[in-house]
Amino acid sequence: MIDWKDKREFWIAGARIADPEAERIRVGSVCVQKGRIAEIVWQKSVETDLPVLDAERFVLAPGFVDLHAHLREPGYEEKETIETGSAAAAAGGYTSVVCMANTNPAIDDPSVVEYISCRAQQVGRCRVYVAGALTKGRLGEIINEYYHLKRAGVVALSDDGAYVTNSQVMRSALEYANLHALPVISHCEDAFLASSSQMNEGYTSTRLGLKGSPAAAEEIAVSRDCMLAQLTGARLHVAHVSTAGAVELVRRAKKKGTRITAEATPHHLTLDDRLLDGYDANLKVNPPLRGVKDVEALRAGLLDGTIDCVATDHAPHSEIDKDVEFDEAPAGMIGLETAFAQLHTELVAKGVIDLLDLVKLMTIKPAATLGLPGGRIAREAPADLVLIDPAEEWTFEKRLIRSRSKNTPLVGARFTGRVQGVFLEGKWQSAV
Ligand SMILES: [Zn+2]
Repeated sequence: MIDWKDKREFWIAGARIADPEAERIRVGSVCVQKGRIAEIVWQKSVETDLPVLDAERFVLAPGFVDLHAHLREPGYEEKETIETGSAAAAAGGYTSVVCMANTNPAIDDPSVVEYISCRAQQVGRCRVYVAGALTKGRLGEIINEYYHLKRAGVVALSDDGAYVTNSQVMRSALEYANLHALPVISHCEDAFLASSSQMNEGYTSTRLGLKGSPAAAEEIAVSRDCMLAQLTGARLHVAHVSTAGAVELVRRAKKKGTRITAEATPHHLTLDDRLLDGYDANLKVNPPLRGVKDVEALRAGLLDGTIDCVATDHAPHSEIDKDVEFDEAPAGMIGLETAFAQLHTELVAKGVIDLLDLVKLMTIKPAATLGLPGGRIAREAPADLVLIDPAEEWTFEKRLIRSRSKNTPLVGARFTGRVQGVFLEGKWQSAV
């Protein structure tokens, strides 16, 4: 589209500016200088000597913030690297992502945090924030040295991919995390109930003869962690909420004043377990796609604020990993490149939420959830911006995928609304 890479000082003129803080979408123009937003004026055109990008067709919003991505490096570079993961993020409109700790080695040591931060900076396509592991090796037994992890720059703590089974360990983890003002992100799933499950437990799993994971596996885990958050006063963030019961538990905990937040993924908000009929391993995710009622409850949770934000749980797996018997395939799908288009198509275009709500759920709300900078469009803020054509109709094709892995059930999907690219500190990266 636009060859805008080398311009460092310019105007983006006439865009519909989605400002999640001011809660409005309004036509205006933005001046970018030295990587920052130098000025915003509420007029369609500007008189200037600087180059002008005519953005009348587009919506300009703060770059998206993802609280939950698996970038796989170090250790699983055949699935994803910081470079390919950052490129996928930028192509999806993200300028900030938080990467999860289930790498090899796990992010349980400051040296791993430093490695990831340095590598992300070298690549320079997206800001990468790091979630440190809650326990050593993510084994759920011994808590890490949070002081050192925090000094190395972690923004949250999580054993994501695994639930901390031992309640005493989780209590200590929450208490120490709280001392260091670090939020704890919990992957809520009772490991015994969910053991060797392939999908959601229900009508479809019975019909397909696949072992299911009951909603109770998630809800028991969410209940316990809500109670422990209340007991300790610590900040708890529930990752990938997927059941109606879990939404209700978070709602009640919030009412009681527990310091809890929650996220939902684009796939849990738009897909349900009936799709597994064709045994497509790309639909095998953890927590599994649930029933229609759960999808409805998640959407209601988005609308009433029980669910604070959208997070992708971008989980790359290589083709050889996934191209096996359904039972053997690892769980996870990629999501960074389709999150906006999928949600815009299924929720905004169908009138469930409006565009500004979606922008909030992908910018200021996730940023506020973990206390990250970003998600704002304001004078002096870094020029981390996304340019969107909300009217473009397009087909998501495999050849477009920037991620090293292609495990998504959405290849061939028709979308309305497309990210055109991002400015990261004013530097343009095209997505089309
Ligand atoms: Zn998880």
